[in-house]
Amino acid sequence: MLSIKNLHARIGEKEILRGINLEIKAGEVHAIMGPNGSGKSTLASVLAGREDYEVTEGSVEFQGKDLLDLAPEERAAEGVFLAFQYPVEIPGVSTTNFMKSAVNEIRKYRGEEPLDAVQFLKMFKEKMAYVNIDQSLLSRSLNEGFSGGEKKRNEIFQMAVLDPKLAILDETDSGLDIDALRIVAEGVNKLKSPTNATIVVTHYQRLLDYIVPDFVHVLYKGRIVKSGTKELALELEEKGYDWIISALVD
Ligand code: ADP
Ligand code: MG
Ligand code: MG
Repeated sequence: MLSIKNLHARIGEKEILRGINLEIKAGEVHAIMGPNGSGKSTLASVLAGREDYEVTEGSVEFQGKDLLDLAPEERAAEGVFLAFQYPVEIPGVSTTNFMKSAVNEIRKYRGEEPLDAVQFLKMFKEKMAYVNIDQSLLSRSLNEGFSGGEKKRNEIFQMAVLDPKLAILDETDSGLDIDALRIVAEGVNKLKSPTNATIVVTHYQRLLDYIVPDFVHVLYKGRIVKSGTKELALELEEKGYDWIISALVD
């Protein structure tokens, strides 16, 4: 599904990704861990197509297409979803309206008819029941005054509605309590299917107590320096990152 080869990217003069190689197949969940500042969020942003980053080398193929060649909204329409580390607040726009525009944008790009109000509401209600989100949260302005847990629930709900092929969740290092972690984990587990894949970026080994990743990768100074299965996450919890870093040549 996703094939990243020798990916280099920079912001301004600073090279942040320095040769990422990663293969992800449909049905897989990959966790990306690593010390603060190693480039995890940069990788997520480059995949989603945020504009501050310049890709200087390498390739990213997504379902046979050159992902780097597509605009961010085209990537979304192809099925790439990035849950934001710091979700935007949009005063005056309810989640319902925001999601309706997002869904119909994507349908338009795919050459499908927009959903009318009745069709949209039907789908919306099914997804609400599926991820167990409360109606009151969806009629409020998007993310405005939401608690950490509510933002996460909303994020998972957006994921359910958009039904992405590749979901990228970037979990910030602070402010996530155990309930919020559980919400994310339950959502990811529930939405997992043989035809989609998930990348979970996290500092927290604890998150991986609930999400069982198929693969765990350690990112350090813009490279994947170690990959393993879920046992690697347990080892990191116990021993930290130093044993991996000190074994590196540079
Ligand atoms: P992580 O998510 O692993 O903590 P980031 O991808 O956020 O790491 O950051 C990687 C490096 O890029 C850090 O050294 C950070 O300071 C730098 N960086 C991130 N965003 C910017 C930016 N907008 N301008 C300059 N440097 C940045
Ligand atoms: Mg960071
Ligand atoms: Mg980060």
